[in-house]
Amino acid sequence: MKVKRNVLLNPGPATTTDTVKEAQVVPDICPREEEFAELMRSLRFDLLKTVHASPDKYTCVLFCGSGTINIDICLNSLLPEGKKVMILNNGAYSSRAVEVCNYYGLPLKELRYPFDERPDLKEAEEALKADPDIALVYTTHNETGTGIMNPIREIGALAHKYNACFVVDTTSTLAMVPIDIEKENIDFCMASAQKGIMGMAGLSFIIGNKAMLEASKDYPKRSYYCNLYLQYDYFEKTGEMHFTPPVQTVYAAVQALKEYFEEGEMPKWERHTRVFRAIHEGLDRLGFKDVIRPEWQTGLVVAVRYPDDENWSFEKVHNYCYERGFTIYPGKIASLNTFRLCALGAIDEEDIREFFKVFEQALKECGVAVPVRYNENA
Ligand SMILES: *Cc1c(COP(=O)(O)O)cnc(C)c1O
Repeated sequence: MKVKRNVLLNPGPATTTDTVKEAQVVPDICPREEEFAELMRSLRFDLLKTVHASPDKYTCVLFCGSGTINIDICLNSLLPEGKKVMILNNGAYSSRAVEVCNYYGLPLKELRYPFDERPDLKEAEEALKADPDIALVYTTHNETGTGIMNPIREIGALAHKYNACFVVDTTSTLAMVPIDIEKENIDFCMASAQKGIMGMAGLSFIIGNKAMLEASKDYPKRSYYCNLYLQYDYFEKTGEMHFTPPVQTVYAAVQALKEYFEEGEMPKWERHTRVFRAIHEGLDRLGFKDVIRPEWQTGLVVAVRYPDDENWSFEKVHNYCYERGFTIYPGKIASLNTFRLCALGAIDEEDIREFFKVFEQALKECGVAVPVRYNENA
């Protein structure tokens, strides 16, 4: 089997290895067979290791869906009756969590910050102190729209000080940035198979504190398909998903995780870091400016400002690169025109050097002056 290799610089789904692609081609199997349940049992167990979660204290629950299903599930399932969610929001993904709360009509305290600022811990503590009804604190680890890293360990410590459960969207860091669930004060985190572990889209998972999950048995049920306790309970009793799992995607995830452990947590993080540096080098050489101050960047996503050049066209540059096997991605900041280059997936620095040859050629084809220009010295 020969499949064309594309270099995806979008923030997931990420470039996968051929062996992960091939792992999906398996004999047909009914997922209610014990053989398949055993596969998911070991997958759940192995996923715990990606965040160094002890199986005595933590569990992993799988869902069929894209990463957003985890946001929905954690928020609708982990809030006790009459209690309130607090979201520290400095970007598009925490805004999505706010929308989920609004859709379910969950009581919400939102602390909003500009996209290029980090949450104010003092303000967070005051809010927690002032309102003992806050039972669930939520934020996003790496805001994938901008690449800003939030101080989850500190936020988690505050949540625990005021007896709240701490839920973090780690979709764009898990299995990339090394995470120790206990050290980071995380009660529940999440990701989907298409991102850090470099599997296929359609399988998502939540890793969380077993005792807290079991306590949520009696919390209000706000969704049927997307309830964390129901899915957990079904897994514990039968080893299976409540409803049909994404069978072939599970096989790909098993292979992807095997390759994750073969590569190793630190070497993989170093590879992402090499890719990230190569992206910055390429951008610097062409005069591009990014939007998040360097010390706050997670090291996986670079949000880049459009140059002030009348010949610049994201679409044209995108299409030129796309036709040559490289995918760049639009930004996610309402108030500023940006595009994104990401360091996810099975790629290395040589891919980025090749990309910048094509990218520079695209700028020339469009008539964009290089180095690129900005009107003000921001
Ligand atoms: C990718 C991502 C998600 C999930 O997005 P889907 O489009 O549903 O896969 C959630 N949170 C973060 C931070 C992400 O980067």
